[in-house]
Amino acid sequence: MSKFKSYNINQLDKIPQLMLLDHRQMEDIRIVSEIYPFKTNNYVLENLINWTNVPDDPIFRLNFPHKEMLTELHYDQLKWGMRNMDEVSYRNLIHDIRLSLNPHPAGQVDHNTPYFLGEKLEGMQHKYRNTILFFPSHSQTCHAYCTFCFRWPQFVNEPGFKMQAKEIDPLVAYLRANPYISDVLLTGGDPMVMSPRILANYLLPLLEVKSLKVIRIGTKSLSYWPHKFVTDPEKDELLQLLGKVSAAGKHLAIMAHFNHYVEFETAVAQEAIFNLRKIGAEIRTQAPLLRNINNKVRIWSTMWERQVQLGCVPYYMFLPRDTGAQHYFAESLETALHIYRGAVQLTGGLCRTARGPVMSMTTGKVELLDIEDDVYQLRFLQHRNSALAFKTFRARGRNEQPKWFDDLACHDERYREFFADQDDYDRNEVQYGNISLQL
Ligand code: SF4
Repeated sequence: MSKFKSYNINQLDKIPQLMLLDHRQMEDIRIVSEIYPFKTNNYVLENLINWTNVPDDPIFRLNFPHKEMLTELHYDQLKWGMRNMDEVSYRNLIHDIRLSLNPHPAGQVDHNTPYFLGEKLEGMQHKYRNTILFFPSHSQTCHAYCTFCFRWPQFVNEPGFKMQAKEIDPLVAYLRANPYISDVLLTGGDPMVMSPRILANYLLPLLEVKSLKVIRIGTKSLSYWPHKFVTDPEKDELLQLLGKVSAAGKHLAIMAHFNHYVEFETAVAQEAIFNLRKIGAEIRTQAPLLRNINNKVRIWSTMWERQVQLGCVPYYMFLPRDTGAQHYFAESLETALHIYRGAVQLTGGLCRTARGPVMSMTTGKVELLDIEDDVYQLRFLQHRNSALAFKTFRARGRNEQPKWFDDLACHDERYREFFADQDDYDRNEVQYGNISLQL
């Protein structure tokens, strides 16, 4: 039986595999970790990283910070500050750099927080009509951290950066008052870091809400700690708890985050998938397309084929969000479309449930459908205004190599409404059922 052991930046010297790195590489990890959180664990170190291929190994790049994630200016400022600044000035420098990195993309803190009976429901987001996100306070960490993570502010100790909810009761009351909400997504961090006893406090009250049809749990535990469902001492209790969701007549969707096929090639990861499917969970897979980690047609086609073989349903190919080290991880929209199409064309029909390339942003989730003569054909899969979902529209690039929606401009006036920003929605408060959402 494997025992979970995690390492943070202060325990870097205790990671035996890092003896392979030189002094400069170790210094880079230390400097970049001043801005972005770092955490790894014994399973990732021993099973997922091919140490003969470091630093280019995809899981090493996924888990260990590297110099290029910072701009040269920020890197130099930190390196100098670390040696020459007093503690307070150095902490202020770190804070300022973090603020400059758009820590809350897609308005995730300022917008979409629902109100109920005059109270703001902290730690929840209700952006799309049918689905509400809930951030349990006990799950604001992960078994290891990803370098590209758009939720990185959840893991750094900065006042006002974190979204979290301690109580499930306000959510239950909100769901009862708004029976058209069919889906709850428990997210974080990673809800699967919670013990079954704590998870039960969040999960079981939801099973009593008749109108709720789907409970989704966003997790990377199948990749970073699959022992959770196979050999951990509480795994039976956990699987029994999760089994209660299907027994209550609801759909349990595990929104599994896999960045590379090596993550589900271990026997324990495959057994974890098997055990979850046995208790009635459907596993849907999603990941962003990342430079230096998975930006190859073959990686995606292999990933989707193996996922389908293991009984998972490919769901999304995202593009890295406009936060943190997006400049390092993002491919151009053109390359992303090429990789998505190439991978889809290599696979059978059951892999083609994967939607992509998709940008998740303030007003909705937008899918890139085609590029022809520098005209970008797009559609929103989800939109804050559901009347705009699934209608195609066109854009043109603002620069040579657009990488994100902000790099696109409205093609002509017919499509103006697709380019409305969140401020427009703030002015025209959206009504969901009988609850007025104050975005
Ligand atoms: S597992 Fe998910 S939430 Fe956690 S660090 Fe990775 S991307 Fe972020």
